[in-house]
Amino acid sequence: MQGLIDLMAETSTQNPERIAEVLADHGVRPTSQRETVYSSLLQKRDHPTADEVFARVREKAPTISLATVYNCLDVLVQHNLVKAVNFERAPTQYCANLAPHAHFHDEEGRTLDIDMPAGMFEQLRGLLPQNFDVKDIEVNFHGRAPKS
Ligand SMILES: [Zn+2]
Repeated sequence: MQGLIDLMAETSTQNPERIAEVLADHGVRPTSQRETVYSSLLQKRDHPTADEVFARVREKAPTISLATVYNCLDVLVQHNLVKAVNFERAPTQYCANLAPHAHFHDEEGRTLDIDMPAGMFEQLRGLLPQNFDVKDIEVNFHGRAPKS
């Protein structure tokens, strides 16, 4: 986990060896396509859809197909490096921020990360009766966010 936080801190440098290392640490065999997809998600944290990821990675990897991008995203989600964010009927968006956070969905279709204080998710879990087994908690805000 520490390695991932370090990686996030140094994403501006986009060190490909570190990306390969983090993939391997999470049980993902690093391939150049997976590295390209993952690094594009780390680079710009705006919760892109698969189509948007495809458009971004094509600049670096012109031969990559949309199906390959989907496959890479699936692998990253399965290995808990990326979260699939599903909101209403919008296409799935992808989030590489693994720190506990909520999402703010604004009226213009943007999805923003909202940091959650330590312990907040445990508090929410505590609202449930005993013997409820929580697999995941999602906190979503809806509304209008200021223009960035
Ligand atoms: Zn997010």
